Amino acid sequence: MPRPISAVIHLQNFTHNLSVTRRHAGASKIWSVMKADAYGHSIKHVWKALSSTDGFAILDLHEAILLREEGWTGPILLLEGFFQQDDLKVVDQYQLTTSVHSDWQLDAIENATFTAPISVYAKLNSGMNRLGFSPDKYADAVKRLSSMSNVSSVTLMTHFANSDLTTGTDLPHQRIKPFIDHNYPVCIANSGATLWHPKTHYDWVRSGVILYGASPSGKWQDIADKDLRATMTLRSQIIGMHYIAAGESIGYGSKFTASQPMKIATVACGYADGYPRHAPTGTPVWLNGQRCALLGAVSMDMLTIDVSECQEVSIGDEVELWGKNLPIDDVAQAAGTIGYELMCALAKRVPVLYE
Ligand code: PLP
Repeated sequence: MPRPISAVIHLQNFTHNLSVTRRHAGASKIWSVMKADAYGHSIKHVWKALSSTDGFAILDLHEAILLREEGWTGPILLLEGFFQQDDLKVVDQYQLTTSVHSDWQLDAIENATFTAPISVYAKLNSGMNRLGFSPDKYADAVKRLSSMSNVSSVTLMTHFANSDLTTGTDLPHQRIKPFIDHNYPVCIANSGATLWHPKTHYDWVRSGVILYGASPSGKWQDIADKDLRATMTLRSQIIGMHYIAAGESIGYGSKFTASQPMKIATVACGYADGYPRHAPTGTPVWLNGQRCALLGAVSMDMLTIDVSECQEVSIGDEVELWGKNLPIDDVAQAAGTIGYELMCALAKRVPVLYE
């Protein structure tokens, strides 16, 4: 018998979330962001549920090649561009759109030969200070790309550091505004901006986490009225139960000590499955239609929950760690992280079902 843990990927919810995204994006086209193997969900298995998108945005060349081999013939954007000159051969062969953020990439494109001119996204560093041309170099970079005979179109791009905060988008948006004219398409909005900052939508939005039903701000309440649906449920079962007396402790490091008699249950899910090890006592877990609290330290393969208030509970009962009934954002927030990280960290050893 395998361990009773598994993840379920809800394919229909991708299609639903894309339609919610489209409602917000209005007339703008949508890049569905699928980097990190579709935020841990598997590009191979989920891309078809998103195939009414206008394009897929990814990170690694092998993700782009996979999409082409799977039969996707529409646009593909390399969010961080290419990493070495030779990558441009793949850009050419698989007809990819690449972002461009550094001088060496300008030289590389200028010196490359393509079977047909390529589309590029010129990235401005608008305050994230990660990738992108600084504002004083940006106009020259855009001009140089536009003048290259092997470049067919240049789109203006930046990435927001704080799209979840109303005040946070002002600065990056202001920084790219002077470059926006009618000569170039514009693509600057990620999920947070797609939902909350319509003035940033322009020609294309790049939406990621909302397609996976999680909140760009990390707080479920912020998207509670958006009808976004979970795309990943992590579930397991109760494999042990105990009654403990006041004064007894639970788990490694005895981090939780009962102040009264308690009924507790052991669940077959630990940090080696991708559950956050730092989730503290009180992190919610879903059992038989109600929330229960995590108790003590999460182990490699198990965690413990308080079932004192549950009327009927027995070994074999299903437990949802996050998903359809328990927003991943609530678990992530309790554990001091974000839904993005939990999705991406689902461990290889967890069997995945696509429904
Ligand atoms: N655009 C770029 C350049 C990104 O790096 C990301 C993700 O980090 C996205 C868009 C999508 O972000 P989100 O998942 O918040 O929509």
